[in-house]
Amino acid sequence: MSMFVDQVRIHIEAGRGGDGAVSFHREKYVAAGGPDGGDGGKGGDVIFVADDHFSSLIAFRYQRKYIAENGQPGAAKRCTGKSAPDLVIKVPRGTVIREAQSGRVMADISGDEPVIIAKGGKGGKGNQHFASSTRQVPRFAKPGYDGEKFDLILELKLLADVGLVGFPNVGKSTLISVVSAAKPKIANYHFTTLEPVLGVVKLDDERSFVMADIPGLIEGAAEGAGLGHSFLRHVERCRLIVHVLDVSGCEDRDPIEDFEKINRELANFSEDLSHCPQIVAANKADLASEEQIERLHAYIAEKELPFYVISAAAAQGTKPLLDEISRVLDTLPPVKRFEPEAVPEPAPEEKKRFTVEIDENGVYQVDAPFMEPIMRTVNPDDWSSLQYFERVLISSGIIAKLEEMGAKEGVTVSINGFEFDYVD
Ligand code: GDP
Ligand code: MG
Repeated sequence: MSMFVDQVRIHIEAGRGGDGAVSFHREKYVAAGGPDGGDGGKGGDVIFVADDHFSSLIAFRYQRKYIAENGQPGAAKRCTGKSAPDLVIKVPRGTVIREAQSGRVMADISGDEPVIIAKGGKGGKGNQHFASSTRQVPRFAKPGYDGEKFDLILELKLLADVGLVGFPNVGKSTLISVVSAAKPKIANYHFTTLEPVLGVVKLDDERSFVMADIPGLIEGAAEGAGLGHSFLRHVERCRLIVHVLDVSGCEDRDPIEDFEKINRELANFSEDLSHCPQIVAANKADLASEEQIERLHAYIAEKELPFYVISAAAAQGTKPLLDEISRVLDTLPPVKRFEPEAVPEPAPEEKKRFTVEIDENGVYQVDAPFMEPIMRTVNPDDWSSLQYFERVLISSGIIAKLEEMGAKEGVTVSINGFEFDYVD
């Protein structure tokens, strides 16, 4: 049995940037040259892109870790290290990427644009950048920066205009097979449909839409009982629901009860789904009495929903149904895309927390996680960049703390491992 996998958890890591080089220009007969250590190369990004050859996330069951390569270190003679290639991960169209920890949406891979999910680290600067009038022999360079890493939840949410929902065996697969080129399995037993099937319904040259056969929803599906729960996510993007009922009740079920149960399931799964417009298709009319059809019709009319009597197996009554679907779709917004959500802000008291300790060498060791992004961008050669760095040191209270602890001009301060001379 093939398995349809539409949710997986994976780990991705972008590459680290290469270290900057420490090197000095050397030439025969030239005693001491200037610093010429090149910069490190950039680490590879991790990029996601839609690929229509894939229809499920099953490949990710077998490989769960994706790690891009690191950038190469810089070298002498101002040679920049080679940047690492990006790691491109192909996913089925409609895959929604969430960060596992926070649950925030990072991207919806529904279009053709590749999306960078984890950025590779920048390369560290080589010592060629660190010579100054007072420091002619810079014996240091910057290490490369770490790449981003994430645990991700990939979730496939099919892109369809119309979702067919209904109890098993009411004729959903039969319907999609007669109105599109999709060929789902059809059989007279429950749960034959184990994976959602997409079909393009082409009415004429101008009008077409995508229909999804969503596998049997059963009672309790929204609470995770039995098959069906996981498939509800595929209805989430649909613009319109076609609710298929067996009007003949040939399986000893009551179509009115079925209708209510399914709608409860949809509402339990998501508030939005309960507001999704519906059209009712009363199927298996060939097996139903006039009275059965009238009873259901009266009930649905009370709900003010469009009602179509069909016999999917004989492809009867399907044309007016499709026309109505197309007409209603024209009035509805496009298929839902999930917008990326912002990184959750840390609690204010966590934001600017830092500690200062004086180590055995007299170095003032500052540990300030909130400074990390600033350290990444501070450019020691750029006056305004340094000014900004200094302002943050002042506004965060780090300078005050250093002074309180007795820091004097000329002592070494290390912030998250980045050392500099303290200047009052
Ligand atoms: P699904 O579980 O909702 O996808 O239902 P299927 O499409 O697999 O159909 C279940 C059974 O009902 C199959 O044996 C179909 O041949 C039968 N069926 C579907 N539509 C009709 C119909 O309009 N009339 C009759 N008599 N049988 C139908
Ligand atoms: Mg089916």
